[in-house]
Amino acid sequence: MSKFLIAGNWKMNTNIGNAKKLINDIIKETSEIDDVDILLCPPYTHLFYSSQITEASNISIGAQNSYFEPSGAYTGEVSNEMLNSVGCSYVILGHSERRAIFGENNELVNKKVISALDSGLNVILCIGESESERESGNTNNVLFGQLEESLANVNDNSNLTIAYEPVWAIGTGKTATPEIIVETHEFINTYLSNRFGNNNIKILYGGSMKPENAESILKINNVSGGLIGGASLNSESFSTICKIASSLS
Ligand code: PEP
Repeated sequence: MSKFLIAGNWKMNTNIGNAKKLINDIIKETSEIDDVDILLCPPYTHLFYSSQITEASNISIGAQNSYFEPSGAYTGEVSNEMLNSVGCSYVILGHSERRAIFGENNELVNKKVISALDSGLNVILCIGESESERESGNTNNVLFGQLEESLANVNDNSNLTIAYEPVWAIGTGKTATPEIIVETHEFINTYLSNRFGNNNIKILYGGSMKPENAESILKINNVSGGLIGGASLNSESFSTICKIASSLS
């Protein structure tokens, strides 16, 4: 089995002062773990510091978004080239908050995925259904569409990770049931195998993951780790999840 990937998405939280403390605490608390891939995705303003301070640790640094153009008149945007230059090795793309609040559609996400993979970054592509889509029995159609359109013309999957994040479970305290996770991860894994042939693509679960539910989620077939929002802002909670992943490795 490949290593679990435990990724923290800090979203638009922390200033550089408390971010330094959080990251240093996580470095200390996870220093003995070498059988889990640990990733932190702080806000852009903290990326350079974060990648420097984690250089000698087992923690990788990623961004929460990027733009597909390499440079130019795109006020407010950040390119993959820029992320590489500050030591990032990952980028999260297509997060449901980007889709819902900033109007990103699959076509734009696809351009971003292609550009980020071309630049050598590892991509975590987020997909997930809303509550009404699940209730109306449309989950698989929605996920299929997101995968098909966001991965159009992507041929090399070696740096690709998928995060299944049911929108109704993000930041709500509601976690998907084990049955839902089993069924959905199986669906995504089958899609990826059909699309790419044999695949080693990790499929993370995201949605109110915390120390209390991490073990039962990480034990599920086809779950290769977690994308963690709220609980990644507390060093003890995040490090505990990393330790649980290590104990299952
Ligand atoms: C996320 O933002 O990707 C996420 C899963 O958030 P939370 O863990 O807070 O639900």
